[in-house]
Amino acid sequence: MFFFVDVPGGFGILSIYMARIFDTRKSTLALRHRKRFLLSQLKIHPDALRASFVERFSQCGKTNCACRRGGSKHGPFYYLTQCLAVGKMNKFLLKAAAQQQAAKQGIEHYHQLQEQMEELSQINAELLRREESLGDD
Ligand SMILES: [Zn+2]
Repeated sequence: MFFFVDVPGGFGILSIYMARIFDTRKSTLALRHRKRFLLSQLKIHPDALRASFVERFSQCGKTNCACRRGGSKHGPFYYLTQCLAVGKMNKFLLKAAAQQQAAKQGIEHYHQLQEQMEELSQINAELLRREESLGDD
């Protein structure tokens, strides 16, 4: 899950990844089956994209424009944002509909993989807690 927080005057976005909690209160055999299934499903899509898709409406620079007089703002505009490090943000406008669609798809594929990896990781932690082997046996 990603949260967006607007910072006044800027385009600051705080992106926090919160891991989903998967149910690991199953038998060791069931966990192993689930793990085997997950591993068979894992796929790295060529378009995998760790980024956020952001929709914005904005005011223009014309002082007498309706957008500055309570009228509707311009937009929507679509941006791709990517946190690279604290305070380091890669951000650009997605002008074409095809670009917007490609961004959405790539982000979805990245999330899928991230979810699968997270579930695998939580199962492995549970198996380790039970003093079970993490290997493929
Ligand atoms: Zn305007």
